[in-house]
Parts: sequence; C-alpha cells; structure tokens
Amino acid sequence: MAQEQTPDDGPLFCTVHPDRETHLRCNRCGRPMCSQCAVRMPVGYRCRECMREQQAVFYTATRIDYVIAAVAAFFGSLAASYLVMLIPWLLFQLLLAPVAGALIPQIVLTVIRRRRGRYMGEVVVAAIIAGGVVSQWPTLQWLFMGAPPGGILTSLIWPALFSGIVAVVAYGWFRFGGKRY
Ligand SMILES: [Zn+2]
Ligand SMILES: [Zn+2]
Repeated sequence: MAQEQTPDDGPLFCTVHPDRETHLRCNRCGRPMCSQCAVRMPVGYRCRECMREQQAVFYTATRIDYVIAAVAAFFGSLAASYLVMLIPWLLFQLLLAPVAGALIPQIVLTVIRRRRGRYMGEVVVAAIIAGGVVSQWPTLQWLFMGAPPGGILTSLIWPALFSGIVAVVAYGWFRFGGKRY
C-alpha cells in the first residue's frame, strides 16, 4: 500500500490528464494516475496501459483458434439440435439445453487447447445460433411453401428456445467460467 500513496513527493499529476492532481501511482509501472484512470485490481491500482498489456498476454487465441472454435461450436450445436429432436418429450429437450450449453464450451476449449480469446464467447454464440438455424433448415424451407409440417411451436419456437438456452449457457462459460481455466 505504501507504494501507491506518495504524500512526500509533493503533488502528482495524472499522466493522461495533466490537469488532475492525484496521489495514486500504478503499482506496475509507477506512473501517476487520477482515480478515473486507475483500475482496481486484487494486487492494487493499475493504469489502463498496464491493464491492456496484461490482457494482451492473457488472451492467447490466434485467428485460427477462432475459426476452429467456430467450426467446433457450429457442429456441436448442429449435432445437439438434431439429437434433441429425436427425443419426443419437449420439456426434456429443454432440460438438455443447459447440458449442451456446458458441453460445447468444453469441446471448444479442448480443440483450441484452452487458449483464450477476448471475443471467444461471442464467436461461439454466433456459431451455436448458426448451427441451430441450419439444423432447422428443412423446417425453414417449409415456411416459404406453407406451414411447417410439425406446426410453428414444435418446428420453430421450440428449437429456437433450445438453441437460445444453449447459446446463453455457453456464453456464460466463456464470460464467467473462464477464470477457472
Ligand atoms: Zn502502469
Ligand atoms: Zn487520468
């Protein structure tokens, strides 16, 4: 804590905002920063520059990882949507959605060797929705030619709900479960 406050050095001024007096210093690079520029970390206050550098090291996924992740999530979602349609009980289908939503991130993280990407959650969500839409392609074709054979509820709303839950759960894994890896 002694490092952060330096009352003996006289007034400090924020590196980004030179008109703002401050007593805070980044505990990594030591630059003075105002309370608006400071980011509170478990280890103390850091400047935004250091935060960016830290995150750049933290996010190690390459562009190819994003592609691989998208492909894995797409086919995972496609397979889950197809398999779940084989189950005749609609409520049981929905109960399986969180399971698929938890399973797909595991598959994705395995194939990209647990490398992390800032937008990995978003990419996986988009791929899951794409997989869900493609799995319903026969139904969607029916839409242009008349009512779907199974009715709107079972043919469209239910699968959309299923893919939606899968996507939300999967996104949660990347957003909030990521720290465990
Ligand atoms: Zn810094
Ligand atoms: Zn500032």
